[in-house]
Amino acid sequence: MTSNQVNEYRRRFMAGLGLAAGATLAPNFILRSAQAADVVARPDNEPASSAKRWGMLIDANRLTDGGASMVEACKREHGWGNDPQASAEQQPQWMRVVKVTDKHTKHSFTLPVMCQHCENPPCVDVCPTGASMKRADGIVYVNKHTCIGCRYCMMACPYKARSFVHEPLKDQKPHSPRGMGTVESCNLCVHRIDKGQLPACVEAAPHAVIFGDLNDPESRISQALKALGGTQIRADLGLNTGVRYLNI
Ligand code: SF4
Ligand code: SF4
Repeated sequence: MTSNQVNEYRRRFMAGLGLAAGATLAPNFILRSAQAADVVARPDNEPASSAKRWGMLIDANRLTDGGASMVEACKREHGWGNDPQASAEQQPQWMRVVKVTDKHTKHSFTLPVMCQHCENPPCVDVCPTGASMKRADGIVYVNKHTCIGCRYCMMACPYKARSFVHEPLKDQKPHSPRGMGTVESCNLCVHRIDKGQLPACVEAAPHAVIFGDLNDPESRISQALKALGGTQIRADLGLNTGVRYLNI
């Protein structure tokens, strides 16, 4: 099977799942390595600004391991995935590798799926305490101090991007505190972004992911999206996700 045929199968299959296809790919376009210069540190005395909107473009064709190294980097950064008391179905879902198989051709591929940092996030709309929030720069996350664990946001999220912490936790990372009885999800490594660093998962797959400001037409991510298009998973929902994909 040629790579063109593979891409066509992917487009048709994802369309069958309700995934909108991106624009036609420019031939021979190569994503340059992720660059820390895509993120500028935010001064402590300045609040996050809506002038920026952080986003990520993941090229599934350039993930040599289907996204596994991105998941492992997330685990290391946030200290999840080693909760020995948690059953398999209770393991955290900060990021997971999803396998997609064309039911006609049986062709399969994988992609990493995490919180898509929706512009119009239903997880925020349903939260009774305001713990599920979207920052001015588009980062969606949970404040574990005000989360009451009702799990409404888990039910509202169409991407299954959130999980509930059932068990007491050990060895937590100071920069990413978690809490039993609360819900959690990818926070786009907000602690790193504020320091001018790339998210850990982006650093783990530098040739497959571009990270940057979707509001800046000159940013590398905006330029790549302009040249290549990009697919939002379940674009039909109108959530305008900050995470976009190529070649799915
Ligand atoms: S992907 Fe789910 S958790 Fe993330 S912003 Fe969208 S609805 Fe909320
Ligand atoms: S589980 Fe927490 S973050 Fe989610 S809706 Fe309930 S209070 Fe809000």
